[in-house]
Amino acid sequence: MPSRSGSCEHVSAIQQVTPRAAGCEECLALGEQWNELRVCLSCGHVGCCEDSTHAHARQHFNATGHPVIASFERAETWGWCYVHRRYLELPPQLLPKRRSGLAIALARLFRRPR
Ligand SMILES: [Zn+2]
Ligand SMILES: [Zn+2]
Ligand SMILES: [Zn+2]
Repeated sequence: MPSRSGSCEHVSAIQQVTPRAAGCEECLALGEQWNELRVCLSCGHVGCCEDSTHAHARQHFNATGHPVIASFERAETWGWCYVHRRYLELPPQLLPKRRSGLAIALARLFRRPR
């Protein structure tokens, strides 16, 4: 893994975002599975990581040019700048809020017998 030291000008341009979904938006639409989730720190897009079949987080960067993502996995505090191809240590206030409570509630809802 490359060095996580330092920052880049893209980080100073981002603000805290609210993740738009509890899972990869494109995979949910396709009915596909993903491995890990990444959140776009420009618009809150949630996409799957590059180990996933579709790598929607990278596709989102290719489509929009939004440069910085953060991990949406529990206890991970790193970000990644696609432009500089560099890991970033994100200040806590920029980490996306994990909506685990809501995700659990939704999962329960979908498991409810008909
Ligand atoms: Zn950058
Ligand atoms: Zn995906
Ligand atoms: Zn975005």
